[in-house]
Amino acid sequence: PNQLIWFRNDLRVTDHPALTAACQSAMAEGGRVHAVFVCTTQQWQRHDWGVNKRDFVYRSVLALGQQLRELGITLHVLQVPLFSQCAEAVVKLALELGAGKVVWHREVGWDERQRDLAVRKRCTQENLATEVLDDRLLVPPESVLTGGGTPFKVFTPYKRRWLEALKASGVANLPKPRVQPGKVNAPTISRDAFGLSEDVPAMAALWPAGESEAHKRLVRFTRERLMQYGEQRDFPALEGTSGLSPYLAVGAISARQCAHAWLLASEGDWHHPRSDVWLSELGWRDFYQYIMWHFPRVSRNQPFVEKTRQLAWRSADEDFLAWCQGRTGIPLVDAAMRQLHATGWMHNRLRMVVAMFLTKNLLVDWRRGEAYFMQQLVDGDFAANNGGWQWSASTGTDAAPYFRVFNPVSQSQRFDPEGQFIRHWLPELAHLDNKQIHLPKPALRGDYPAPIVDLKLSRQQAIDAFAAL
Ligand code: FAD
Repeated sequence: PNQLIWFRNDLRVTDHPALTAACQSAMAEGGRVHAVFVCTTQQWQRHDWGVNKRDFVYRSVLALGQQLRELGITLHVLQVPLFSQCAEAVVKLALELGAGKVVWHREVGWDERQRDLAVRKRCTQENLATEVLDDRLLVPPESVLTGGGTPFKVFTPYKRRWLEALKASGVANLPKPRVQPGKVNAPTISRDAFGLSEDVPAMAALWPAGESEAHKRLVRFTRERLMQYGEQRDFPALEGTSGLSPYLAVGAISARQCAHAWLLASEGDWHHPRSDVWLSELGWRDFYQYIMWHFPRVSRNQPFVEKTRQLAWRSADEDFLAWCQGRTGIPLVDAAMRQLHATGWMHNRLRMVVAMFLTKNLLVDWRRGEAYFMQQLVDGDFAANNGGWQWSASTGTDAAPYFRVFNPVSQSQRFDPEGQFIRHWLPELAHLDNKQIHLPKPALRGDYPAPIVDLKLSRQQAIDAFAAL
């Protein structure tokens, strides 16, 4: 029988466990491999996937279709509104193609898990086999537990056990499968199916899609910047980080491929003093997915720390809007929001700064910030975004303690000391000297607004609101 592989956020052909397994079964049993991707625009809307994310997924699926074609595999693109309709659509295609088995990779989100359970059930009813493999995490969530067999809730002890497990399993990469003989037609993939009415040329130029671009970036990063990452990663004016997040989010590159390149560049030293911080970032990426797997409430709009449900968030629609639009009057916050709007990406240090400003100084519910980020980001990733927001809002696992509130002005002085980043994104402030550039301006200055909030006072109000819990 033939094999059907279902691509979701693993849009590549190298180091792809499901693709490798499907090709091996097909070879042993004399069948062909087919591939499917399902567009679910209404579901994506419910998950706040914005234009930048959908456009990047669209372009990544195009690149995948081309690569699969070179391997002799047809990519079928289906379209249903919601996850709940996937089972019907995928099983129907599998039966039409004469497939005996459907193969995919496990996902951690709640809706994704419900979808996959339904697909499994429907497959069983139709006598179709299923195979679910692990791919997205470097270490599967069951393999990192405390001595008592429970999941970790704090990153540092998690990371220790995670690293042991990773060293034991290794980071070997699977090769690209062999070409299947036979002619394959080019898939028809319309922008419409991704809910896109027009091109987003700026994003295509900044973030070219596809596996080969992802590898180019990985090679450049490990060669040129990895060994300085520890010193440079917190300075938003420098290009100190890898820029791989959109590619990891759609799976155009695997975390194993990143870890493999990291280990080679680190000369096989798992504790390399100059590069180990970057492996830790991949650890954080695993950790937030791990939390989502073991504590599904975080993926159902709930805080990890349950008592924070009672927190008295302010409705503050005008403040929220000013934050979204980068008109808060706090230079670093506004510059960061402009970076987000112009590039679909924001530096990690600034994601923390703007998230803390929204949830602490403005005391606006982290879920509103989480949704807004998802609507704007090209690298939107449910677990990383949710984890980052809950960390900043002090509602999450191993979150910032509620009384530790970043002051965006001191963050600015420390991480953008010469104001280079602010000058780039807020040219209206470019003429100010290195001292003035970081400070809120007491009154409207040209187009630049006065601060919408008193930093000291609002910080204390947030601390009081948390202490009241
Ligand atoms: P590098 O510094 O080169 O790191 C390499 C990779 O490690 C990243 O590509 C990413 O996959 C992973 N990573 C790094 N830091 C983290 C982290 N703190 N948590 C989880 N994974 C991490 N990351 C996303 O990929 N998608 C999101 O939607 C997202 N939302 C965030 C929201 C908030 C409020 C915060 C504080 C962080 C968020 N992050 C998110 C994490 C982090 O900011 C980005 O992964 C990083 O800035 C991407 O740039 P890079 O690829 O150059 O990272």
